[in-house]
Amino acid sequence: MAKAPLPYSKLGSGFTFPEYSPVYPRDPGYKLHHYRLEIRVYVEEGRIEGKATLRVSRAAGEARSIEIDAVDMEIRAVSVNGRGVDYTYDGEKLVVRLPEPLGDAPVDVTVEYSVEKPRYGLYFVGPSEHYPSKRYEVWSQGETEWNRYWMPIYDYPNNKATSEMIVWVPRGYMAISNGSLAERRSEGDWEVYHWVFDKPHSTYLIALAVGKYVELKEKAGDVTLYYYVPPGREGDAPRSFSRTKDMIRFFEEYLGVKYPYDNYKQVCVQDFVVGGMENTSMTILLEETLHDEHAHMDYESEGLVAHELAHQWFGDLVTCRDWGHIWINESFATYMEALYRRHWKGGDEFVYRLVQMLDSYLDEARRNYTRPIVYNVYKYSEEVFDAHSYPKGALVLHTLANLLGEDTFRRGLKEFLTRFAYKNADTEDFKKVMSEISGRNLDWFFNQYVYNAGHPVVKVSKSWDEDAKILKLELSQTQDTNTAPEAYYLPVEVAVVFEDGSEVRRRVVIEERRQVVQLPLDKRPAEVYVDPEFKVFMVLDVDYPVEDLIRVLERGRYVYWRILAARKLREKRSVRAVKALKKAVLEDRFWGVSYEAAVSLGKLGMEEAMKALIECLEKVENPRVRRGIVKGLGEYRDERAAKALAEVLSNPRESYYVRAEAATSLGRTKVPWALDVLKRHLDTPSHWEVITRGVLAGLAELGGDEAKKIIIEYSKPGKNRWVRIAAAQAMGKFPGDKEVLDAMAQLARERDHRIQMAVASAAREMMDPRTLDILKRIVEDPAMPWAYKAARIAERKIREHVEKGVEYKALREEIEKMREESRRLVERIERIEVLEKR
Ligand SMILES: [Zn+2]
Repeated sequence: MAKAPLPYSKLGSGFTFPEYSPVYPRDPGYKLHHYRLEIRVYVEEGRIEGKATLRVSRAAGEARSIEIDAVDMEIRAVSVNGRGVDYTYDGEKLVVRLPEPLGDAPVDVTVEYSVEKPRYGLYFVGPSEHYPSKRYEVWSQGETEWNRYWMPIYDYPNNKATSEMIVWVPRGYMAISNGSLAERRSEGDWEVYHWVFDKPHSTYLIALAVGKYVELKEKAGDVTLYYYVPPGREGDAPRSFSRTKDMIRFFEEYLGVKYPYDNYKQVCVQDFVVGGMENTSMTILLEETLHDEHAHMDYESEGLVAHELAHQWFGDLVTCRDWGHIWINESFATYMEALYRRHWKGGDEFVYRLVQMLDSYLDEARRNYTRPIVYNVYKYSEEVFDAHSYPKGALVLHTLANLLGEDTFRRGLKEFLTRFAYKNADTEDFKKVMSEISGRNLDWFFNQYVYNAGHPVVKVSKSWDEDAKILKLELSQTQDTNTAPEAYYLPVEVAVVFEDGSEVRRRVVIEERRQVVQLPLDKRPAEVYVDPEFKVFMVLDVDYPVEDLIRVLERGRYVYWRILAARKLREKRSVRAVKALKKAVLEDRFWGVSYEAAVSLGKLGMEEAMKALIECLEKVENPRVRRGIVKGLGEYRDERAAKALAEVLSNPRESYYVRAEAATSLGRTKVPWALDVLKRHLDTPSHWEVITRGVLAGLAELGGDEAKKIIIEYSKPGKNRWVRIAAAQAMGKFPGDKEVLDAMAQLARERDHRIQMAVASAAREMMDPRTLDILKRIVEDPAMPWAYKAARIAERKIREHVEKGVEYKALREEIEKMREESRRLVERIERIEVLEKR
């Protein structure tokens, strides 16, 4: 049996700060049954006014007053069942005194209020001095606890209620909200939209979008699909959303649970604060989800679309009880998206997606922190919306699916969704369902993967004993025992392939820190694969000789291992490796392997590797692979590489994304003429301004005064938001520059968390203590909590770096002193020797 660690015995490192303390789920104090919002939206003035009615009854114990979340509002009147009552309001909590204690019969508490330019939750976009062509638009973002900034409400996920919204908008505007449109009428200069959502949902999922849209619709079975796009973008909508129908069908079939609502709306808005938000039956997305035909060469919106749609089951139908269990929403949506990809594009794409998820989690783990997936120590709830809750959690679900078998896993998901439909659930609820359905105790599994931090790192090496006909596999778990469990319990498959192509499989349990497994075989193995199909969440460190890696890359049947081999070969500076990698770029049947091989050819830094890349660039057509080639070429400070990159950048037939990568790589070659080429392409229009962003990154790599001036210029208001973010990020390449520091200080003040995060990232790259003041400003006034966290981590890294520098300096002084002493000592000895000789 598995020797699983106790829950929370390894907490990881770097996630919390000294002042953090546990956050516990809130006690509701009352039960909210139904929420009715009637508001007038002054789109151009940035104001709303209206009233909210909360139908409530007793929860537990006696309640003589109820507390409603309402931030920075003007409260005009409060009534209970139509009779005015007393209340107190401190700008955050509205405490309503009830005429009599709350009973089991619901009462209506009505709050009349207004809000002027809410700080969060509801965003007013419109033309401004710097952006005169912006359209007037209003959209909301409730998750996590932002709806309280524009509607008086019980704002915590652990209460589900039905809701309706009656919205007055100026004539010409459309108002979109959750559920079905019960009525639409005109009233003078106003249009009235009455939306009704008749299923209980958590209140953070209540949403609103107001703007001028083109409405497109189609049917997916009984479900009506609506797409709302800005006028003129109708043509782009199918490219982004046409797979929605197939996704609904797939999720329904996979989960055995029908899409829970009557319709599904997707609304594209300007400047959305996150990528997408899965409000019940109404997802709001970044407008950049829409893309033109040229972008479609290698840009996909399906990932985002599938993720948000999957949330309608995981997150909306069943909702995490509190934010500490957010993986119940996020890792499920992330995993469902990967499963849809498998259905749509096949197994190789699925495995590559798993690899990318692992990369994204490891990036966070190495750069920032590790923590248990279920964790309640944080300052802002947004902090747990990270790569632990998304990709790591998804990989844990994938591992569970393989452990139980996919059919059992699916039956478990169906039971979980059915039992907790329209309710909240936490991790223990999920574990219990999975244990019941599978008949297996899963404590060890959840303990090692969910209730402890870290991840298994398994180093694999092998040897073959020809006389005894035994394959010896040496498997060592090398993860850091301070922050992660000492030993994971990892049942894996080992596939052995022989020269004639035949294969045998063996089951092996990796459970010790160091373990040697002996597998008797009939004949010498040609290829040995541990976990060939990536069924287990662990980091494999393949310690094979270069010849074996080449064989895996060239002949391996498992895409996961071809990727591992392509990556491992970047450490082996051999001409044989270059040849094998080049062949993989040109011939591998899966583009992901070709991409990885191209990146490795870059990392090798050998003349032959560079020539191979240039040759590949002439032959390869797939833009996703070309991107890898172009990225690889950026590792060479060489005229020939630069010339090839400049050609790609200048070629309008190349994909936007390949050109962008070429721009960055061109900067990295550091050839002096790159400046002119980059400048020429600075304003090339492209999807998401990706070329301009790539050019800015290239200029930063190139360095120099003129590049710096351009970057500062492009960080200023008036430029596209994403361009400004890229410019802010690029500033990290100019450490200690006064002008750059001044620009960063300016940018840190802006109310855009992505810009603030870019500044934090630049500061961290500089490792300059002079940026600490800039970071402090972000910490004190973050536009969103993610900016707070990024700035906080940057601060800490810089402090540690400075301290290390101070320690290092002290050490160096010490050594200097000792050297000086020893020199004097030697001199003395020499003198003594001279004296003695006399
Ligand atoms: Zn999500």
